[in-house]
Order: sequence, then structure tokens, then C-alpha cells
Amino acid sequence: MDYKKYMALALEQAKIAYKNGDVPIGCVIVYNDKVIASAYNCRMKNKNVLHHSEIIAIDKACKNIGDWRLEDCTLFVTVEPCPMCAGAILQARFKEVVFGAKNEKAGCVGSIYNILQDDRFNHIVSVKEGVLEDECSFLMKSFFKDCRKRDIKTDLAKIPGVSKGIIKHFNSIGIYEIKDLVGKDAKKLYELECEKSGKKIEKTMLYIYKMAIYFAENSNVEKEKLNIKYWKNKV
Ligand SMILES: [Zn+2]
Repeated sequence: MDYKKYMALALEQAKIAYKNGDVPIGCVIVYNDKVIASAYNCRMKNKNVLHHSEIIAIDKACKNIGDWRLEDCTLFVTVEPCPMCAGAILQARFKEVVFGAKNEKAGCVGSIYNILQDDRFNHIVSVKEGVLEDECSFLMKSFFKDCRKRDIKTDLAKIPGVSKGIIKHFNSIGIYEIKDLVGKDAKKLYELECEKSGKKIEKTMLYIYKMAIYFAENSNVEKEKLNIKYWKNKV
């Protein structure tokens, strides 16, 4: 079987999820060397926790084959399945699962646990990992990087007096998350900016201070982590 060919199709599905603002994971199910179902993650789009790409694809495949057993099928998914999807894969008695990138935080096909190959269950699914791994993992990393950029833009826009210029400035020096700006990191950034340019000191300092205060008052960030005293003395 041409693993790369089918994983490339799963990647195309993942890209649709990306465009929709969903975590970019895509899946195809293959039977007799033919794709019988394909799907992308729709959790955000459909506001439904069950709508992972694998679950939607399994649902389509069952309808297509007319059986709940998918024992002669191979499931391709761009990222290592979560416990819910690995459970559904086991229940459907798939012959084989092929995935691209590992999911060390939630994967249950080897990372945290291996639901598919525990011989206490009555079925074992063979597993092949790392097919088009770089492409699958790049898509995930780009997505989360975009999310962090969006987050800081939204966060900063809430603070009175923060211009588009300063948001651009933080993006340009690689500060995407508000937690990068508070506490120790803010102090480091301040010192770095002092070294870089005398002119920028006061302006940068003031913005960081404003952000620290704002987030101390408006977010769940613990106040002691914000190092407010330090900033008050500096302004
Ligand atoms: Zn899942």
C-alpha cells in the first residue's frame, strides 16, 4: 500500500480544518486500496467535542460499508489519535492505523498510552507512525504559532493606548503571548531593550508596565507572578 499517497490525502483534509480555525488534523479510511471516507477536524466549526476527524471518518465509513466492523480497513490520520479516537478505532476493529506526527501531550497510540496494542483487549491494531511526519507536524506548529499571534493581538488591543505599532514591535521580537511579557520575562525584555536602544526604553517600559497592571487586574494570572512592584518603581 502506498502510505505516502494516502497520508497526503489526509493532509489535504487537515488543511481544510486549518482554514476553518480548527486544529489541523485530517483523516482518510482506505478499503481495498480505495478511499471510502475522508474527514477533517470540526470540533470548533461544529462546536462538538466528538467531531474529531477520525470519528467523522469512521461514521462515514460505517455508512459506506454498511457495517460497524471495519476490520479490513486502514485508517490514515495526520496526528497520533487521542484516547477517544483510539477507543473508536479499537471498537471498529481496524486492521491498521497509520499516523504522521506524534502527539506527546494527548496521543494514545504510543505517547501516553497505547490503546491499540494492549493485549488485555480482544483486538490488536497494527500501527505505522511517522509517514509524512515533517509535513503533518509543520502544519500543527504553524497553526499554534498563528493562534498565539492572534491571542496577543486580541489581548493588547484591550489595553488603552497600545498602538498597532507596538503590537508589530512585539511580534517582530518574537513575543506572542502575554505571559511572555509579565514577571521575569518582562524584566528581561526591558533590559534587552535598554541595551538595544536608549530611545526605546521609556516607551517599551511603559507599555510593558501597562500590560502587567492590566493583566493583574483583568486576568487569572497570579498577581505575585507579575512583579508589579518592580514595574511601579521603574516608571
Ligand atoms: Zn481524537
